[in-house]
Amino acid sequence: MAREPKVVIIGAGMSGIAIAVTLKKAGFHDFTVLEKGSRVGGVWHWNTYPGLTCDVPSLLYRYTFAGKPDWSHFFAKGPDIQRYHEDVAREHDVTGHIRLNTEVTGARFENERWHVETAGGDRFEADFLVAATGILHHPRVPDIPGMADFDGPLFHTARWDHRVDPRGKRVAVIGTGSTGVQLTTALQPIAKQFSLFQRTAQWVIPAPTRLPQPAALTALLRQAPWLNQAIFDASLRASRVLTDITLAPGPARTLAQAYARASLRLIRDRRLRAKLTPDYEPFCKRQVVSGEFHRAVQRKNVSVVTEEIERIVPEGIRTADGTVHEFDVIALATGFQAHNYMRPMRLTGRDGTTIDEAWENGTFAYRMTAIPGFPNFFTVLGPNSPIGSVHLQYTAEHTGRYIVSFLRRFRRGELTTAEVTETATKEFNEQVRTAIGPTVWNTGCQSWYLDDSGTVDLWPFDRKTLTRMLREPDPEHYTVTV
Ligand code: NAP
Repeated sequence: MAREPKVVIIGAGMSGIAIAVTLKKAGFHDFTVLEKGSRVGGVWHWNTYPGLTCDVPSLLYRYTFAGKPDWSHFFAKGPDIQRYHEDVAREHDVTGHIRLNTEVTGARFENERWHVETAGGDRFEADFLVAATGILHHPRVPDIPGMADFDGPLFHTARWDHRVDPRGKRVAVIGTGSTGVQLTTALQPIAKQFSLFQRTAQWVIPAPTRLPQPAALTALLRQAPWLNQAIFDASLRASRVLTDITLAPGPARTLAQAYARASLRLIRDRRLRAKLTPDYEPFCKRQVVSGEFHRAVQRKNVSVVTEEIERIVPEGIRTADGTVHEFDVIALATGFQAHNYMRPMRLTGRDGTTIDEAWENGTFAYRMTAIPGFPNFFTVLGPNSPIGSVHLQYTAEHTGRYIVSFLRRFRRGELTTAEVTETATKEFNEQVRTAIGPTVWNTGCQSWYLDDSGTVDLWPFDRKTLTRMLREPDPEHYTVTV
């Protein structure tokens, strides 16, 4: 008997919008997107810190189905990207499916359906549940003693307090990842004194991250959408260089690492250069890209503090050598709990198994999206997703098409539930383990790519393999009920 699948998608960030549009394009209209934020956009909604820029070129940082001719810069700013997501949701007619300010607190699989609860007490039922809940979502707030004692404002960068005006102030930023580096370049010119607290030095490679997109190019791309598409297609093919660099040693990695090492020469003062020189391989952590960091960090009003932070005191930060560094503002650029995925939501699958029980020994999924014991449930950019190596929108859209294959079979009455087998999942995870071996992420550094057990939680294959693995569900890998 033919029936329409009812779908709940959790999250209206980049991947949630990708899934919603993919479903719509495939002719599935009975879906609701539940978003805890007050706007769509995910990380681009939550992150509003000064200097927020995407370090992926804008003509590439887009959905495959939605080109944008009029980026303000070659590396777009946060608000521009946030607007893009709102525009795409509206133009592809999915805004009406999205419920904002609706946080999912729990979901339980019972009687062959998902029962979803929200913080506001609303209940939803669905045949399929999709968690597009993002990766860099839950701020990692460090446990530094005395944080409540500080006299001034102290906040995480993903919850930037815009009531605070950093101009002419003494500002501290703790953390030297992509966020800390972008903040350095944005705040150094306006702060009276800027201090970057560095626990581990980062490789930073220069790129023209502040270059505006010329008006003539915008006009041309407006007139010739085919050109925009051709640039995108060519950039997507060229982005293969990232998998070449990261997956195995070879000429691409050697060259890229040489560029990173050479970039350190931009730091003229030897003592500062020594401080900023990492003791691990370039590209082992998420590579930081910035066209201005090397200049900004050498300015007179900047200090890089490498002494261990002992505690926060009312005046500022006391380091292990006993120095009290006085500040008006402290920002924590300390990253995210990247392996939470949909948690702390209470997700309960078949036979009452919770996601915490299933992931007791570490997060895993089959091909980033399916988990044994959780029928009709899919993650988008779930465990082992290709953060920093394969185009993320492409990955999310392909995951969407993979999910659509199940919806089609449901509609045709060929299945009521589908659950990935333990055997297929173990086999996939074994392939991942083997392929992670020669990756650059596995060359001995601490990073948010590693889970609590020290295992690299990334996609160790190229885009071709990703496309193949998500092309069609393998019937032998799923148990279905009709
Ligand atoms: P991150 O890369 O995880 O960096 C966190 C930083 O905080 C690290 O330097 C870390 O030091 C430091 N830290 C953490 N706890 C600390 C503590 N207790 N004391 C002192 N230092 C501490 O976080 P992020 O910079 O927010 O970036 C996260 C990811 O977001 C990026 O890797 C990137 O994927 C994404 N992002 C992208 C863009 C973009 O332009 N596309 C911009 C911003 C962020 P250790 O290295 O020693 O751990």
